[in-house]
Amino acid sequence: ITTTARAMKDPDGGFAGSVVVFSDVTDLVNALAAKDDFVSNVSHEFRTPLTSILGYVEILLDDELDGHQRHALEIIRRNSERLLTLVSDLLASRNGQLIVTPQAVDVAELVRASVSAALPKAAASRVALQAATPERLDAHVDAARISQVLDNLVSNAIKYSPDGGNVLVSLEEGDGRLTCRVRDTGMGMSADDQAEVFTKFFRTSSVRQTNIPGVGLGLPISKAIVEAHGGTIEVDSALGQGSTFTFQVPV
Ligand code: ADP
Repeated sequence: ITTTARAMKDPDGGFAGSVVVFSDVTDLVNALAAKDDFVSNVSHEFRTPLTSILGYVEILLDDELDGHQRHALEIIRRNSERLLTLVSDLLASRNGQLIVTPQAVDVAELVRASVSAALPKAAASRVALQAATPERLDAHVDAARISQVLDNLVSNAIKYSPDGGNVLVSLEEGDGRLTCRVRDTGMGMSADDQAEVFTKFFRTSSVRQTNIPGVGLGLPISKAIVEAHGGTIEVDSALGQGSTFTFQVPV
């Protein structure tokens, strides 16, 4: 049961009485628990076929292949791995745990790799994608997890930009932390939407009116990863003008 109460005033401003509302939220709580169970079961069920796909891709990659075949299989492998990570993250986000294993890493290289991997997608969407990084930026981070954050932010920036857009990924170091910005000239979002955008399963009102695919998990997972590194992530955006996602992590 949740309770809300409010004092009522009469026309002269005097105290007239109180209204107390009791709401039975049992159904809501049950529905949320059922949704959690569903997510958890589905995640488990997805893992087995995905692991099998990845296993066979690895076997094929050991064969004699021409350049085109190898390239196609590499893409299948990369996307299957992403799906597997997403499935694990769904489970992890449900259990409220996210483990990071920091090691010495050149983050400039991670940024460049992420941008290179997204170039074909950017070209297909007619979006100009660029990276501005120092030659090296050594930090103590979980490379796979930080790449996941970068992939998420870069792919969102492309996905939510119309034809002719620009996406710039910049990286710099200062005050013992690295700052990475992913700036786009895309559809942007309202201040209300910015406040919610890191909430699980949330999609902005302008995106809900489109058929751009997505589930609303990339940003909450990115936030969990950045926070597991002792860092912060935020968005600055204007509707119809573009968005800048900035994350900072201690080096
Ligand atoms: P998904 O993209 O799968 O919906 P995310 O968690 O990555 O999930 O993003 C949540 C929502 O935030 C998106 O659905 C979209 O409404 C909004 N969003 C994220 N990145 C951008 C961006 N660069 N520009 C505009 N809206 C964005």
